[in-house]
Amino acid sequence: MSKAEYTTHGGVAVITMDNPPVNGLGHDLRVGLMNGLKRASGDDAVKAVVIMGTAKAFSGGADISEFNTPKASTEPTLHQIIDTLDGMKKPVVAGIGGFAMGGGLELSLACHFRVAAPGAQLALPEVNLGILPGAGGTQRLPRAIGVKPALDLMVSGKPVPAEKAPAGLIDEIAQGDLAQATIAFAEKVVAEKRPLRRLRDQKVTLDDAEAYFAATRQKVAKESRGYPAPLKIVACAEAAVNLPFDEGRKFERARFEELVVTTESQALRHAFFGERAVEKIPDVPKDTPIIDVKSVGIVGAGTMGGGIAMAFVNAGLPVKLLEPTQEALDRGLATIKKNYAATVSKGRLPQAEMDKRMGLISTTREYGDFKDCDLAIEAVFEKMGVKKEVFGRLDEVVKQGAILATNTSTLDVNEIAASTKRPESVVGLHFFSPANVMRLLEIVRGAKTSKPVLATAMKLARKVKKVGIVSGVCDGFIGNRMMEEYVRQAYFLVDEGATPQQVDKALQDWGMAMGPFTMLDMAGQDIGWEVRKRRAGQKGVRAYSQWPDRVCELGRLGQKTGAGVYKYEAGNRTPQPDPAIEQLIDAYRKEIGVKPRQISDAEIVERTIYALVNEGARILEEGIALRAVDIDMVYLTGYGFPRYRGGPMFYADTVGLKSVLAAVEKYAKGYHGECWQLAPLLKKLAADGKTFN
Ligand code: NAD
Repeated sequence: MSKAEYTTHGGVAVITMDNPPVNGLGHDLRVGLMNGLKRASGDDAVKAVVIMGTAKAFSGGADISEFNTPKASTEPTLHQIIDTLDGMKKPVVAGIGGFAMGGGLELSLACHFRVAAPGAQLALPEVNLGILPGAGGTQRLPRAIGVKPALDLMVSGKPVPAEKAPAGLIDEIAQGDLAQATIAFAEKVVAEKRPLRRLRDQKVTLDDAEAYFAATRQKVAKESRGYPAPLKIVACAEAAVNLPFDEGRKFERARFEELVVTTESQALRHAFFGERAVEKIPDVPKDTPIIDVKSVGIVGAGTMGGGIAMAFVNAGLPVKLLEPTQEALDRGLATIKKNYAATVSKGRLPQAEMDKRMGLISTTREYGDFKDCDLAIEAVFEKMGVKKEVFGRLDEVVKQGAILATNTSTLDVNEIAASTKRPESVVGLHFFSPANVMRLLEIVRGAKTSKPVLATAMKLARKVKKVGIVSGVCDGFIGNRMMEEYVRQAYFLVDEGATPQQVDKALQDWGMAMGPFTMLDMAGQDIGWEVRKRRAGQKGVRAYSQWPDRVCELGRLGQKTGAGVYKYEAGNRTPQPDPAIEQLIDAYRKEIGVKPRQISDAEIVERTIYALVNEGARILEEGIALRAVDIDMVYLTGYGFPRYRGGPMFYADTVGLKSVLAAVEKYAKGYHGECWQLAPLLKKLAADGKTFN
């Protein structure tokens, strides 16, 4: 079936792409496009051609369902279509509605003119997948808009709305119906006998080219921290200036081929597909009934309750906040207001939009006001007794069929569920702080959580712009349980001789958004301290370094108290190494009889990252995570793991599980080696020569 419809309107042939959902340039569509172009060329009555998409999308680029299949390279290829466009003697106009991304924008750049609907988004986002625009985009875009704006678009991968597009990209913004406007534009081109603007025939010039590219390379290298695609994009732009078009295209092709096989690009594609993969829950079919969630009640208006409220009202869902006292309600509401006001003052949110969102939030001190909520989320203190009391009250008043959710970070969701008469309606919705910003949402599936509740939670995650990932019940769920092992090693490394700043720097240089000590100072050192105190004396608890407890005992709980492992100047969040902490660590080493040794950055990275991998393998084996990719996505969306490394499990696969295992076995014989608790799955996969993914 052709996915490109061919019609004529007077002397204008219109080829309309129709390959839902995003007009991916799959094989059937390419055939339709090619046939349309040939038919238009051969028909004397046709004086001009228009290529359109739907109102929703011109084209999102390559068809992702064809990735890694022979269909992707079955003729006609996108390159052949673009070459055909280059050879067209009749004017071709692209009519861009919705968005033109990647190969979609490249297709439009091979047309002679572009008309866009207001608000249409234009982007070359290939860099986000670790590749570059490989269908002539790096050569045509600089010719269309100049080198500097072209590099801005290609290196950032960010979309630009048609109205703000650099001069040369769009010839006209359509008023009214896009198809009519584009056809009218094509007729005008014919009537005025306008020369065809074939980008391949244009020249790009840049006065200070050599100096400009030297400076740009330096800047981009620094920002991309060793990840290769952005620098190759710069090289292609340089080729657009220095080489004839066809040579430049060859240069682009070669750089593309180099990038597509890099580990970084594979990792970025894993991350891209991972976001879709985690939406599938094997035993929850697609047609599982969904609960219609129109209103949300939140118990607790503290840090998390407030952030969760913002996430829901940002998506247009009304929220009711409950606290026992008016003071707590006022405080919670004031914090939300302050957060929105800060965004408004930075010009990132119109005041009217803030007012609309604040208008969606109401407050109450009565559980009775929750009776019509479709979803109630508890975000009160992390104490089982308090949680059970809250769930008992919710169970009494909230209508049957509604979802009862807990935001607990560590408590047993099954035990919480058992305190109600409807455990099938109970689920964990583990948001991360700040809940209105962080993309990760762990959806904790209790033993009795029903499939509709789970399917609805997944759908809600998307609605509030989160990546929902299912986790089974265990202490810490997927993310925090693994993080504990990472942090355990970070503390041990300091016991043995590293400084906190060395550990942080090594991991940040490796790609983590921040090092563990900076992160713990930000989150609050007391969170882990509370957990350690709770577990003290329990059976089977793994050993922990004790110097972090000493830090907490000094009242140094992190940024919020002005000092933690680091010190902070008032109003400044930059961590400063503190001699007092160095002395504390020194004294602790003496006390436990450890003589500090030189520790390499490589050891720091291996021990902390492999601790994630080993615990991840245990989690996978226990069925807490559905697939390795779920673990990877937890780390990419919630823990600042470098996207170009694909997540801890993907990273381990790229290193090779045999090497990972050998290192873990070595560390398991070292300092507090008993804490490693080697994952049998890691051992088995390594022995079988297999991978996690
Ligand atoms: P918080 O102390 O900032 O807020 C808790 C709020 O609950 C307070 O405003 C308190 O007045 C209210 N509250 C206490 N008992 C209540 C009751 N019986 N009825 C109604 N309201 C009550 O704590 P937080 O950081 O928002 O944490 C809340 C929950 O979220 C905890 O379970 C925590 O483990 C979890 N969590 C926290 C984070 C984080 O980074 N802070 C991240 C994920 C999950």
